[in-house]
Amino acid sequence: MMQFFSRRDMREIVLWVAALLAALVAIVAAMRHIQQHHLEQMAGESAVQWTRFVAGSVPDIELVMAGGAVTDQTLDHLKRLRQTENLFRFRFYDPDGDLVLSSDDLGPVADGEAALARERATLQPERREDARQAAREATTLVRLHEGGAAHEPAIYSEAYVALVRDGRVLGVVQVDVDQVAAANSVRAAFARLALVVGLVLHVLAGIGAFYWFRRLRNQRRAEERVRYLAHHDVLSGALNRASFSDEIDTAILRHTRSGTGFAVLCLDLDRFKEVNDSLGHSAGDDVLRQVAQRLFQTVRQGDQLARLGGDEFAILQSGVRQPEDVTRLAKRVIAKLSEPFELSGQSVVCGASIGAAMFSVDAVEKEDLLHKADLALYRAKSEGRGEFSFYDASMDAQLQERRTLTRDLREALEGDQLELYFQPLYEGDGESLVGYEALVRWRHRLRGFVPPSEFVPLAEDTGLIDPLGRWVLRRACAEAARWPEHLSVAVNLSAAQFRNGDLIEIVARALDESGLPARRLGVEITESLLMSNTEQVISALRKLSAMGVRIAMDDFGTGYSSLAYLWRFPFDKLKIDRAFTQNMENDPKVSLIVRSIISLAHSLQIRVNAEGVETKHQLETLRRHGCDELQGYLLGKPAPSDVLPHLDDDIAPGGMMSSHAQLALPGLESKAEPVRQAVAA
Ligand code: C2E
Ligand code: MG
Ligand code: MG
Repeated sequence: MMQFFSRRDMREIVLWVAALLAALVAIVAAMRHIQQHHLEQMAGESAVQWTRFVAGSVPDIELVMAGGAVTDQTLDHLKRLRQTENLFRFRFYDPDGDLVLSSDDLGPVADGEAALARERATLQPERREDARQAAREATTLVRLHEGGAAHEPAIYSEAYVALVRDGRVLGVVQVDVDQVAAANSVRAAFARLALVVGLVLHVLAGIGAFYWFRRLRNQRRAEERVRYLAHHDVLSGALNRASFSDEIDTAILRHTRSGTGFAVLCLDLDRFKEVNDSLGHSAGDDVLRQVAQRLFQTVRQGDQLARLGGDEFAILQSGVRQPEDVTRLAKRVIAKLSEPFELSGQSVVCGASIGAAMFSVDAVEKEDLLHKADLALYRAKSEGRGEFSFYDASMDAQLQERRTLTRDLREALEGDQLELYFQPLYEGDGESLVGYEALVRWRHRLRGFVPPSEFVPLAEDTGLIDPLGRWVLRRACAEAARWPEHLSVAVNLSAAQFRNGDLIEIVARALDESGLPARRLGVEITESLLMSNTEQVISALRKLSAMGVRIAMDDFGTGYSSLAYLWRFPFDKLKIDRAFTQNMENDPKVSLIVRSIISLAHSLQIRVNAEGVETKHQLETLRRHGCDELQGYLLGKPAPSDVLPHLDDDIAPGGMMSSHAQLALPGLESKAEPVRQAVAA
């Protein structure tokens, strides 16, 4: 209760109760006053009437008031008057306030005189004073008395009525009336009134209290909600990053006091992006909510769950004694999240990877602990989907290495230190040059040549793929624009370049700036690109195709090789991965597969390129199979733009590379050297 009512509320309640009590006391006091006044008024009126009656019915009243002798007849009359209902005493005073007659002394005249004398002697002076005042002001004074002497009623009125005749005050008549019955009936009436007023007051107070309480309750709910929002992620109901950080602080404190161990598990959904991109954000939100629900069900009481952003969750596992405790939870979570999620009739599989670090084992500070759990997650993800990894010290070095490489790549991009090489593409006969594939090269000032297979994925992860991709497209188009008309250029596109949605514009601008006709540009995409994010990619590819740009599927045969992709999107070219080309010689089955791929592609009107042609035998086999286009070290290595075969009219195509090209990449692709020599021989 005290939690519900704040100190301020309590003060408000006390004030209201005090005000209510004060109002009640004031009402009771006012009623008492009114009641008194009412009684006095009634008493005054009846006293005046009685006095008038006395004045009218006693013939020698003037004489009596003047203190003269009272006749027996008057005495009898007065005795009878004493019988008036409720009247229990009357006294007559002369204008000076001297007592001249009292109803207590209406005995025989002589006795009466003596008794009167005694009464005069004992009469309280204030009575005389009241009588004198009434005479002086020719008015009526009324006093109410409660609990008088033994022979007096419990409540009675004492009225002093000036007896005036012809404008002259003859004296004052004191009329004492028993008011017990009247007071009782007035009191009863007022009590009823008080009851009604009290009731109304209570009802009003009750209504007021009800509304006040309701307002307070709503206010408390709003405060509660604000507090909740400040600490939780609204979508999933898990803690937010700040609260999670606080929880770690608390866990550290607990560890210091009682040695209770704990671990932080960082968790990332494996295919969330695909779900989000292909099914929309509301489906993504739904998945996140269901993930949180499952996680809440999986962790123990005392563990904390947080959503750190996007599809990233974290668990603070408390009561950890050994690494196996963490492994067990991680495995449970991975199993739980690998079950499919039901999304309005559709079932999707998302899966998760987890990295964990233990406090006091891997780190003794919060930031470090989180960082190490994150590194472990990174490792888990790089090992594949649905993996769990503990932090180990080598991860730091790897990350450091990655960071340095990223920084250097950024510098290389900004400093225009990247180069674009071109590898020739020949007709299936291996004789006529049809174009080049543009391949990016980075010669690091300290490390030397960094292979694209290393820095392209890094650029994809760090967002540098956008500037890199833009640069490659512009350079490739600009170079190709200077080549003879019949030569085209192929540019590799990575999945990340499709995500921003501005790819079409970038391609259009590169074509526009270079003046290269769209039909001379080809783009190469890999199957993995189609597997994620299919709709968006297909729509972008259709737009490119509509512009006239040729589309090729690269590295065919390395991924799932789903023929569905060939059917869903009309590729212009299919590039058979070099693993096939190079294994044809060792395994006749491979040769058979290559032939089938070529014939299948042809039946779909798709041209076929064979990558990695290194030997004359491979070239011959491919030619027999009807391959449309050949690419490989046998025919030409990737080389800088100033040493490309079409510039060198002296040297015939078909494996006779420019000598400049050989020099351009010292040691790099020297694997081809013996082959070239073999071919030359
Ligand atoms: P890719 O698109 O399949 O390119 C062909 C790769 O095979 C090139 O490797 C090329 O040098 C190599 N190659 C060509 N002929 C032979 C041969 O006869 N034998 C052998 N062993 N290899 C041969 P590179 O240049 O190292 O590129 C590797 C991958 O990096 C490329 O594979 C491509 O996926 C990616 N890449 C290269 N440049 C870019 C680029 O500008 N943008 C993007 N997004 N990716 C690029
Ligand atoms: Mg390629
Ligand atoms: Mg390839």
